[in-house]
Amino acid sequence: MVRVTLKIVDAASRHLIGEGEPERIARHGDWFEGPAWVGSTLVWSDVVGNRVLAWDRARGVRTVIEPSAFQNGHTVDRQGRLLAASHGERAIIRREQDGRWWIVADLFEGQRFNSPNDLVTSQDGAVWFTDPLYGLTKPDEGFGGEREISGQHVYRVDPFDQSVRCMTSRQPPMDGPNGIAFSPDESVLYVSDSERGIVQAFLVRYGLDGVELSLRWLVHEVSEGAPDGLRVDPAGRIWVAGGRGVEILSPPVVGQRSAVLGTIFTPKTTSNLAFTPDFSALALTSTDKVFLMPLGDVTR
Ligand code: MG
Repeated sequence: MVRVTLKIVDAASRHLIGEGEPERIARHGDWFEGPAWVGSTLVWSDVVGNRVLAWDRARGVRTVIEPSAFQNGHTVDRQGRLLAASHGERAIIRREQDGRWWIVADLFEGQRFNSPNDLVTSQDGAVWFTDPLYGLTKPDEGFGGEREISGQHVYRVDPFDQSVRCMTSRQPPMDGPNGIAFSPDESVLYVSDSERGIVQAFLVRYGLDGVELSLRWLVHEVSEGAPDGLRVDPAGRIWVAGGRGVEILSPPVVGQRSAVLGTIFTPKTTSNLAFTPDFSALALTSTDKVFLMPLGDVTR
């Protein structure tokens, strides 16, 4: 019996509920994080266990990288390549089709990142990621080391020349930038701040000087625990992982807070989530377990 439930409080959002029971597809983790679907295979991290695991229906769970240099967040780019935020390497890395890993970015203006946590790619092929301190400050989530960059920021790796730009240098400081995702049209970027317990939004502007983040506003303050990973569904709702599970937020309006449409309750803290490529189900990394929850229609 899996105690994972989706409760919808907004009557107009009942179609998000799927048929069938959530299933537990993995257990015995130390701290599961960073889920991403590579086709029908789920890949995720056990950050504290220092390994990366995979699951598919036919083969079940297996460890695919160990030790993993404390990989955390994962995503898949438009070519189907797996990208990881690596605490230990203090870098964004990418697995090529031949299986080898390459560094996408490990320095900003000659200084090493803190410990990249989570990442997302945009339609133009850029990689955006968050860089809080957890891989330096938590002894079981990285190799430690000195911080070289002042501040904890969001960065963008240019798809053409691999140059790295700090996107939040002109913004008020963030304490724990963590989950990161775009709105469906990529005009808004959402970032959770685990230390402040909030989800914030930024308008994304493409100008003569390249891309910039402009107006910033508060979208949500979590009621319990700290917000971690977040994802956006095709209708623009934000699904944010945190203390009690996952909160589902209405598509944000510029300058306004979102409403909570519903909550997925999990037995322990959920760190992150990933929709299947067809949006029929949601994988949840919940402390020591991974759950797969069937969904209704999240595209409308
Ligand atoms: Mg995270």
